[in-house]
Amino acid sequence: MIKDEFIVIGNPIAHSKSPTIHQLFGEQTAIPHRYGRLQVELGDFENTVREFFTQGGRGANITMPFKQEAFIFADLLSERAQCAGAVNTLKLLENGNILGDNTDGIGLVADIHRRFNLQQGAKILILGAGGAARGVIHPLLNCGYQLSLCNRTQSKAEMMIDDFAKVGSLSLHKDGDNRDDYDLIINATSSGVGGELPPLNPRCLSPSTFCYDMFYKAGKTPFIEWVTSYGVRDSADGLGMLVGQAAYAFYLWHGVMPEIEPVISSLRKEMI
Ligand code: NDP
Repeated sequence: MIKDEFIVIGNPIAHSKSPTIHQLFGEQTAIPHRYGRLQVELGDFENTVREFFTQGGRGANITMPFKQEAFIFADLLSERAQCAGAVNTLKLLENGNILGDNTDGIGLVADIHRRFNLQQGAKILILGAGGAARGVIHPLLNCGYQLSLCNRTQSKAEMMIDDFAKVGSLSLHKDGDNRDDYDLIINATSSGVGGELPPLNPRCLSPSTFCYDMFYKAGKTPFIEWVTSYGVRDSADGLGMLVGQAAYAFYLWHGVMPEIEPVISSLRKEMI
């Protein structure tokens, strides 16, 4: 029996900060709602989500490894979800259909604009060609930025560049290239999870290069520690992206945009 109106679904899920974030948004906006977490076994996603919505569920956040399954499950898709090829937010509509949206990209863009002063046409290097990289390419191109992509497995980066060729300027950065004119470098690899670094020639870094790591942890991530050791002055981890994507999901469900900054501060204090 699932009793929550809103839920985050993934595997594993015990570590998820989404219930805390949505509780803080609810308190801040005076919109009380029950938000829980559910670990779903591989192969059980569709049945579980259907049961959740049948039993009064109104919205779900979807995290690893079910974003592609949620994309297939949704009855209709927002433009953001179509471009990302993945869904991280489901919403029950009044006619009973389930809308699939993707708020990861806009969550990242909001955090980058909060942290860094990027001009139109800024040059951005994205490291990684997994789901997280795919989800942010379209929103970044929409801002008028010039993107380059580099991935450990180069063929995956090449495929992604082909996929987005019609949307905007996206080029291949090969492992070892030493271009030094990037305004922002985003680590969208999961290398930090294992304490590792993504492949990047340090010659790409200068003190004024902004660096963003989608990964986050208490203290500095390996990527942020590494770029800082090469003199980079301004960097940020992905906690703000996490809260940002949650804020846009909250807005989709409740029609009210919560304030992001106080929730980031509150989580950051808890993580110390
Ligand atoms: P995927 O598994 O879809 O993709 C992983 C990517 O990382 C691939 O490009 C892979 O390269 C690369 N990679 C993995 N390990 C290494 C390594 N040791 N060295 C170099 N490259 C490596 O993961 P996601 O795209 O979903 O997630 C990527 C990161 O983004 C994770 O750290 C995740 O926590 C973070 N994230 C943060 C969010 C937030 O809100 N802050 C939201 C979503 C994701 P290859 O193709 O060669 O295997």
